[in-house]
This record gives sequence, C-alpha cells and structure tokens, in this order.
Amino acid sequence: MPNRSSVQRRRCRPTHFGLALLALIPLLGPQTAASDPEPRPLHEVKERAWDFPKTPVAREQIEPGIWRATGVSNSYLVEAQEGYVLIDSGLPHQAKKQKALLEEVMQEKPLLYIVLSHSHVDHAGGARLWRADHPGARIITHESFVPMQRTLVELGPYFGKRGAMAMPNLVSATARSRDTDPLLTGGHIKPDILIDDDEPLRLDLAGRNIEVLPMPGGEGADGLGVWLPDEEILFTGDLTGPHFPAFPNLYSVRGERYREFLPYIRSVSKAIELNPRVIAHGHFDVIRDRDYIRKALTRQRDAVQYVHDQTVEGMNQGKGLYELMATIQLPPELALSEGYGRVTWSVRALWETYTGWFDFESTTSLYPVTARQVYPDLVAATGGVDPILALARQRLEGGEPVKALHLLEVVESTEPENPEMLALKIRTLEALRTRAMLQHRNFYEVSWLDARLAETKASLPAASR
Ligand SMILES: [Zn+2]
Repeated sequence: MPNRSSVQRRRCRPTHFGLALLALIPLLGPQTAASDPEPRPLHEVKERAWDFPKTPVAREQIEPGIWRATGVSNSYLVEAQEGYVLIDSGLPHQAKKQKALLEEVMQEKPLLYIVLSHSHVDHAGGARLWRADHPGARIITHESFVPMQRTLVELGPYFGKRGAMAMPNLVSATARSRDTDPLLTGGHIKPDILIDDDEPLRLDLAGRNIEVLPMPGGEGADGLGVWLPDEEILFTGDLTGPHFPAFPNLYSVRGERYREFLPYIRSVSKAIELNPRVIAHGHFDVIRDRDYIRKALTRQRDAVQYVHDQTVEGMNQGKGLYELMATIQLPPELALSEGYGRVTWSVRALWETYTGWFDFESTTSLYPVTARQVYPDLVAATGGVDPILALARQRLEGGEPVKALHLLEVVESTEPENPEMLALKIRTLEALRTRAMLQHRNFYEVSWLDARLAETKASLPAASR
C-alpha cells in the first residue's frame, strides 16, 4: 500500500515494481516563459485546434522547478525535494521525445507520481512508457478513468475512424507509434491511486504542496486538476481547453458519450474559487494574468449555466428539440468562441442527457425506418430528379444551404453519380463552409465539411472536375 504519511487518501493501490532510478543528466531549461502581453477580449481565442501540429516538441521552464514539454499536448514536470510529479504524458508519437526532454532536467531523485488529467490518448499516451522506466512512480487518475478508458479501448476502431475525420495525421501517427512500441498507446493503464468526486488528494512533499483535484466535466467525467496552493498555479488538463476561453466541447462530433453540464459548472466554479495566478492547460500556452483568468473562467461557467437553464426552461415550456437547437444562443454579455464546442450541439446533448433519444416529434422516430428510405418514392412521384434539383438550386440561391442539402440527398438516393447533383452539392458544402468560417470557425464543423467536400469532388466524373 502507498505510504500514508506521503499520501492522504482512502483508496490506494500498490505498484508491482520497486523503486528504480535512471541515471539522469541534470540540465537547466530556458528562462521562464513571458506572459501574454495584452489579454484578448473574452470572445476571442489565440490558438485553435488547427494549430496543434504547429506546436513543436520542446521544453521550457514555466516557473521555478516546473517544466513544460510542449507538443500537440503539454506534459509538465513538477519538482519537489524528494522527487518529481509528472502531469500528463503526451500523444504517443510525441511522448518519447517529451519524456527525454523532461528527463534531462531531472536530478538523481525519483519520479514519485504520474497524474493523468483524463483518459484521452493525447494526455495518457506516454504514461506506460514513463512507468516502465520509472517503476516506482504511482499513477493517479480519477476513478471514472477506468471505465472511460475501457470504452475508449473497446470502441477503439470506431473512435479512430471518427477522430481521423478531423485529425487524420494525428490518428495515423498514433497508430504507427502503437505498432512500433506497444507501450506507446492510450488504454491499458492501471492506475495506482483513484480520486473520486468527493475528496481531493494532497501530496505532502517537502518543499512543495501539491493537491490533485477532481475536476470532471470538461472533456469527460474523469477530469483531474492539479493545484499548487502556495504558488497559485492550476493545471487544468482539458477543463479549460483546448481553446481558451471558449464554450466547452460538451458534445464532440468525434463521438464519445455526452459531457455533463452540472459537473462542468461545479469544476469551473472550483477553479474560480481558487483564484489562480497561473493556468497551465493541457494544450497551448500557459496563461499568467489573474484578472483575465478569473473573468474568462467566470464567463465560461456562466455561459454553460445559461445554456443549461434555457434548455431546461424550453423543455418545460414544451418546445421541441430542434426549436431549442435553433434558438438558444449566448447573449452578448456571455459571448464566447464556439470554435471547438458549439452551443447548438450542446443543447441537443443536454436535452438527450435528460430525456434520451426519442424526440417526441414524430412516430417514425420509434422505428428503424428513416426518411431516406422513402426518398426514391419522392423521386418517382415527382417524375424524376429534375424538379428536385431545381428546388435545391433555388434553396441554395435563397440562402438556405441546409434545406438544399436535404433535397440533394433525395436526388442522391436514386442517382448518386448525377453530375449536376454532385456539382450542386459541392456548391452547397462550400456555402456551408463559408458560413462556418464567417460565424464560429468551428474546428469540427469545418473539418467535417472539408472531408465531405473532398469526398464529393472525388466522386465527380473526371470530365466535370
Ligand atoms: Zn486534449
């Protein structure tokens, strides 16, 4: 069992390995990184998920005795007198280099703990590699990490395909890493210490107070934060990211189960109460502006509370799901970027979390027979695709691209290679993309549209391209 004097916690599990140290070469990292000089308005973001691949794998010292290995996701090393604490372990294909960079600054003392902010592969991908080389280190996760990791493993091929829609290079690099080294993968991590939602864990280390806090809700129920109370630094994992500040990604079109509103609100409220001087995110830059941090966190919490309350009120008033999706928007005083999470998708996620999938609007929803199955009947009834194509063009030109797309799908049901339909579909997808870029520049929406555009262009007959 873990040493009670060093870990105040009820539920601890032993590691199966003794303590072993690598011979490490101590090196000093660069100077503390500079602050962002001018905080942006709260509805703007500096970095977006498209910037993930642009961040090189490198090391910087962010505060005395705290280093960050950058990359698509950050891995942090925190020094105490008797050893080190690692917070997150990077994506598999970057984890080895991030680990080597952090090991360069480690003196000859052990890695004591590996804290994983959640089970996503970009945070947990290098954990088993670290553990193999530092077998005395104990892995700390939220108790929900275990079931969430199991789902990610069981549905791995499914999630991999969906994730590749938005991040094809990262998904293939992850797969290649797993093929070259079975330790370099998410999943199959056996935590030694589990945190539940009721009680944080205090690591009593000489020279540094470190608290591991349950912070579920951002990208799942298994969120953990790390708080350094004396230095007022909060490591937030993906509770506050990857875009910051922003409306959170409470439903990811990659898939995964819905993320809960109320735990998110509680976790962000906790972060506001702590009043951090520094926030170290799971992705992108460290933020060092207490006032900006407090305002941004407050905006995020209040925006989510607003969407929650509007949805619940609308449900009680008997409004339909699609009506709520179309009408609930953030008021100007709560404006936030929707570049990663969208309000409209979150409204649906909340609606379905509270009431399940039956929309109560159409009897047909109860049966596995979709509208698409009667599209060929519509084509036959209109005497062919031409009137439907004409109507689709009219809708597109009238500024209603989604209605145009519905009509084009009717044509597609009988004539999937019709060049006129394909050309109109490309124009429609381009109109939607232009609109998306003018509105929220949402990473997933634009990635999805790009994937559909590429697919549609590829299916155009060569002569029409
Ligand atoms: Zn992440």
